[in-house]
Amino acid sequence: MTFRQTFDILICCVMCVVLNIVVLVVSSSMDPVIVSRSDWHAKPPKSIEVMMNPVPYVVIHHSYLPPACFTTEECIKAMQWMQDLHQINNSWADIGYHFAVGGDGKAYEGRGWSRVGAHAPNYNSISIGICIIGDWRERLPPESQLTAVHQLIEMGVREGKIAEDYKLVGHKQVRDGTACPGEKLYSSIQSWPHFYKVPNPPLPRAQPAVITLKEDNRLKKRTALTGII
Ligand SMILES: [Zn+2]
Repeated sequence: MTFRQTFDILICCVMCVVLNIVVLVVSSSMDPVIVSRSDWHAKPPKSIEVMMNPVPYVVIHHSYLPPACFTTEECIKAMQWMQDLHQINNSWADIGYHFAVGGDGKAYEGRGWSRVGAHAPNYNSISIGICIIGDWRERLPPESQLTAVHQLIEMGVREGKIAEDYKLVGHKQVRDGTACPGEKLYSSIQSWPHFYKVPNPPLPRAQPAVITLKEDNRLKKRTALTGII
């Protein structure tokens, strides 16, 4: 191999590394694709409680059930399934999570940035609850799904919905008796930015304004539901 060939290969390798870094930086600073409630055909909430932003916590969940979804069609079905589980079986106002992220790399709008959630008692009005759709006890979500979670959190910080010095916790850290977000994913999130090892109990906060919407009588059960969240 001539000196020129060696030099060319070296230049090529350097360019590849630079390109990879650029792609990584650009992709992590991009907003995720957000699938709005109307896009996944969400039923209306039975009531709404307004949440103050920015919130100091991000709580990470897995769905356990439904299982991981890898196409938008599957993820839309998963969102509808969870909404039915929460609204009908649990008698909650709406799907409990603020957002759910699918294996299709998209972030699905649940309660959104500024409504009180139903995903972690004591943290529902001071956190954004993000469900990573799938069972992550024994394996990790695909990289594209995790990238979308990071992009979503960064978007929330940039838009003033999540505090800049937010604390990120797994569901099991703030609620006894749950293994959520699954052992494998829980190990992983401990290396994420802002992971908070031992959260203090949150201070009580002023009661948010409650706006009660008329119950939607059209609410119909879509599927037979069983499962654990
Ligand atoms: Zn959970």
